[in-house]
Amino acid sequence: MSSLLSVEEAKKKIIDKFTTLEAETIPLNAAAGRVLAENIVSGIDLPLFPNSSMDGFAVRSIDVECATYDKQKKLKVVDDIPAGKVSLMTIEEDQTSRIMTGAPLPAGADAVIPIEDTNQFKPGKQSEPLQLEIKVFRSVKTGDFVRQQGEDIQSGEKVLSSGKRIRPQEVGLLAMLGITEVPVVRRPRIAIMSTGDELVPIDTPLQAGEIHDSNTHTLHAQIVRDGGDPLNSGIASDLETAVYEGLVRAVSSEVDLIISTAGVSVGAFDFVKSVVEQYGSVEFWRVNIRPGKPLTFGYFQGVPIIGLPGNPVSAFVSYEIFVRPAIYRMSGFKNAEQLIMQVRLIDPVESDGRESYLRAFVKRQEGQWTARLTGHQGSGNLRSLIQANALLVIPSGVKSLPSNSVMEAILFNDFS
Ligand code: AMP
Ligand code: MG
Repeated sequence: MSSLLSVEEAKKKIIDKFTTLEAETIPLNAAAGRVLAENIVSGIDLPLFPNSSMDGFAVRSIDVECATYDKQKKLKVVDDIPAGKVSLMTIEEDQTSRIMTGAPLPAGADAVIPIEDTNQFKPGKQSEPLQLEIKVFRSVKTGDFVRQQGEDIQSGEKVLSSGKRIRPQEVGLLAMLGITEVPVVRRPRIAIMSTGDELVPIDTPLQAGEIHDSNTHTLHAQIVRDGGDPLNSGIASDLETAVYEGLVRAVSSEVDLIISTAGVSVGAFDFVKSVVEQYGSVEFWRVNIRPGKPLTFGYFQGVPIIGLPGNPVSAFVSYEIFVRPAIYRMSGFKNAEQLIMQVRLIDPVESDGRESYLRAFVKRQEGQWTARLTGHQGSGNLRSLIQANALLVIPSGVKSLPSNSVMEAILFNDFS
């Protein structure tokens, strides 16, 4: 056991080898999900001009300071200001202009009376002609129902930091600022190579003893989910030359990282590690983790390679634990934290002493987050992976846990 790296050490050794990739500029509508490569500084105030937050009447607050429902205040209407129009009229004593939400506050006015607080409130009859005189039922203070210039964002202010993932709401802010092209970190290009004589592409009918190459597709989906750009390098058979050629093919497609699956155990036909050793360097090749002990990390012709185990669940889990953080590092994320939660075990759990990532279903029950294993934990069992929404983390050295133990679970949710 002592010759195995801990999960933490292995993760660190991998992450330390990656840095943020170069920036590129893309249209705003392609930017969602990408990572900002530069800080964004606002060139304008938001709001850009004082405007009404309600449909109503722009007033001088001093004119209506005594207005109540019982003591209604008459005001003379001098203009009608829809959103998008700048009024040329200045509001003088006991004057008002009708104003719509978002319209610029006219000169002279310092507040807005919502239409509901005037005698002009006629639900269903919005298109009635504007009256020359209105009655106001309430007072307002300076600034009431007005969105002040720069109250949200001020010109010159940093509004978004590099390393932030662009979500729909960031897209909205960038659009508001009139930014059409966004500096983002280039997507990491990642080659996927499967190895194994038993594997055939998914569009090929199976002969006796063969299985479909599912890992390529699972990894493809994981990489896409994480913002990477996957390249399928195909299936290498269990021959040293085939593995070598597969890796050469992957390198020639100018990738930032190669991920292979299978062929990293101690089986008679497991050549990934030996090929990387002969033609490059192996940084480490075994980790104290279940599933996924035979993980190989090294360089082939200068390109980092993470050799994942072949069992579909092991490949999936090792990707989550070791590859995902590397992709996030290359993508330039500042805060790439996994969503980890304290959960209470409903049933006792057995483990084998390795740091274990067990497929579990986490759910809130009577105010507490609980976890239950989703079934058989064999590394070929896809069903329990499909049913899981989290990986329950059992620390190394722990072989059994009674029910009600509180453990950490990593949710299959996005990093934020
Ligand atoms: P290996 O690491 O080569 O010993 O493979 C371990 C197990 O994973 C074997 O049962 C393989 O058939 C299976 N396996 C390997 N590669 C894949 C793949 N690309 N898709 C599905 N199963 C695989
Ligand atoms: Mg094999």
